[in-house]
Amino acid sequence: MITDFLPTYYEAMGSNPTYTILRSIVVDGHEVAWMRFEGTVTIEGKDNPYAGNMLRCECDFKKGVGWQLYKGKPYGIGRHEETCLPRQAAMHLRQLELRSEYLRRFKKTTYGDVSFLPQLTDKIVRDLIKKAKAGEFIGEDGNGAEFWGGYFYLQTLAGILDQPMRDIWEEVDKLVTQKKISLEGAVVQKYRKPPAPTWEEWFRIEDDGVIGIASLPTHSKMQQVWKLEIYAPDGTRQQEGTLPLSYSPDFGPDIDDVEEVTQELKKLMSCPNPKESTKE
Ligand SMILES: [Zn+2]
Repeated sequence: MITDFLPTYYEAMGSNPTYTILRSIVVDGHEVAWMRFEGTVTIEGKDNPYAGNMLRCECDFKKGVGWQLYKGKPYGIGRHEETCLPRQAAMHLRQLELRSEYLRRFKKTTYGDVSFLPQLTDKIVRDLIKKAKAGEFIGEDGNGAEFWGGYFYLQTLAGILDQPMRDIWEEVDKLVTQKKISLEGAVVQKYRKPPAPTWEEWFRIEDDGVIGIASLPTHSKMQQVWKLEIYAPDGTRQQEGTLPLSYSPDFGPDIDDVEEVTQELKKLMSCPNPKESTKE
């Protein structure tokens, strides 16, 4: 059980954060638990508390499986999250449990079997958001959705409703159109009005007074392209255009995209001024 491994774990890794079991699910003698972690992080000499809930299992705390000492220093080992079968089973079991909870709760409103659940996507999404906000285990590991500013993944909803992803997309798109939720990839978020499109200059090149500027979209709801601008030495804008990005610029543009836009800028800058040439 997890509590058997905790003392050795804390001794090696330190007790920041500490872990508390909120709900334990034992599968084939292997304990998987929805746990609360609480710790502090020091920023500019000030201690800031942090806390959250996530799925953990014996693997995480067991020496030689989740962590190891190397030259006296502790290291986390690999990503056993995906390979631990009891852990996968625990998420699946929780999704089944939620499915029967919703069947029970909504049974009287419509038919009586699992096929009516997709018609209740609206209510179920709302309830899952409520549960996620309250820090409840809803059948996912608790790692990703929060990082993306959301509540849960559509894959989890698909598991609970026992529906293929393409049907889930269809149902959920309706909720987006009705402005009930927003999506960031496959993460469900509360509804947000898409922000106005703005651009951030990424770099500029100068050649003989002519300036070429490449900018990136500041958020994912904008068209994912480079914006290119060419300015004459007197500061007037001569040309403007876009160039598609091959990769998402979430963590900065890909090196291939930078190479491509640099070539394109140079090409545009070496062209004769199109406005002047039409005047002649
Ligand atoms: Zn495990």
